[in-house]
Amino acid sequence: MTAHLIDGNALSKQLRTEVAARAQALKAQGVTPGLAVVLVGDNPASQVYVRNKVKACEDSGLHSVLEKYEATLTEADLLARVEALNKDPSIHGILVQLPLPPHIDAQKVIEAISPAKDVDGFHIASAGALMTGMPGFWPCTPYGCMKMLESIGYDLRGKHAVVIGRSNIVGKPMALMLLQKDATVTVAHSRTQNLKALTLQADVIVAAVGKRNVLTADMVKPGAVVLDVGMNRNDEGKLCGDVDFEGVKQVASHITPVPGGVGPMTITMLLVNTLEAAERASK
Ligand code: NAP
Repeated sequence: MTAHLIDGNALSKQLRTEVAARAQALKAQGVTPGLAVVLVGDNPASQVYVRNKVKACEDSGLHSVLEKYEATLTEADLLARVEALNKDPSIHGILVQLPLPPHIDAQKVIEAISPAKDVDGFHIASAGALMTGMPGFWPCTPYGCMKMLESIGYDLRGKHAVVIGRSNIVGKPMALMLLQKDATVTVAHSRTQNLKALTLQADVIVAAVGKRNVLTADMVKPGAVVLDVGMNRNDEGKLCGDVDFEGVKQVASHITPVPGGVGPMTITMLLVNTLEAAERASK
């Protein structure tokens, strides 16, 4: 069997067309959805990420503001900027690009963002909303994974999902989203013993570790759905995921590639959340 590819670029294109149409409808009411992206320092990867996010906004008809600051910006000054953006009616979503320089407490900055504008979904209020099933913003990467499962019409009810990784931005919210859709969820991490015994039972596997070949073909039940969140470099310096793609695609029924899988969906869900924030604010 060769797995069906879940194409993150194609799905993103479709969702971004919908975002553009909804943005247009809001504009007709006099509201342009706006995202503020705040970058502190000159981390090269962060610079690429924020550029991509701003471009994606422009392409979908969303207003975006990129605020760049020197790595020497004080925590107090950053908090003051966040507060000003909280009050700015032209801004519906605020994203502070992580990581922040070590002298700034990232959690403190995230908690300073108004939950109504927390389009990254990292605020403790957003985490609480996800946990309790209340309306809020879902973190973009696991949200994108859920959209990918939805795109193949996958019914999670009663299925066993194994999430590998337990970070606050991917693994844990992923597990909660799968649980909300009635999957039976196992969360694995660096202390998990015999990962293979768990993944072999899984109908759905989400790999969110940041290490190559965490999931190989011998660890996957035939017909399982495999989502690869990982972003790593192979020996040739090319982008690759956590999954041994060539091997696992022979066993799985569906698989996401890297690149072109979860990555583009993450930015797409940021647009969706920003639009949603603007729609909520305009009601
Ligand atoms: P993270 O905070 O470093 O978390 C990694 C998780 O993997 C931790 O929970 C860790 O366990 C677990 N882990 C480490 N080694 C393991 C092993 N051998 N077996 C099982 N679990 C293991 O990373 P993250 O922020 O969640 O990101 C994970 C990956 O996704 C990275 O490659 C990142 O670049 C990528 N990512 C991609 C996107 C995208 O848009 N495509 C977005 C976000 C992240 P402990 O908790 O025990 O340490």
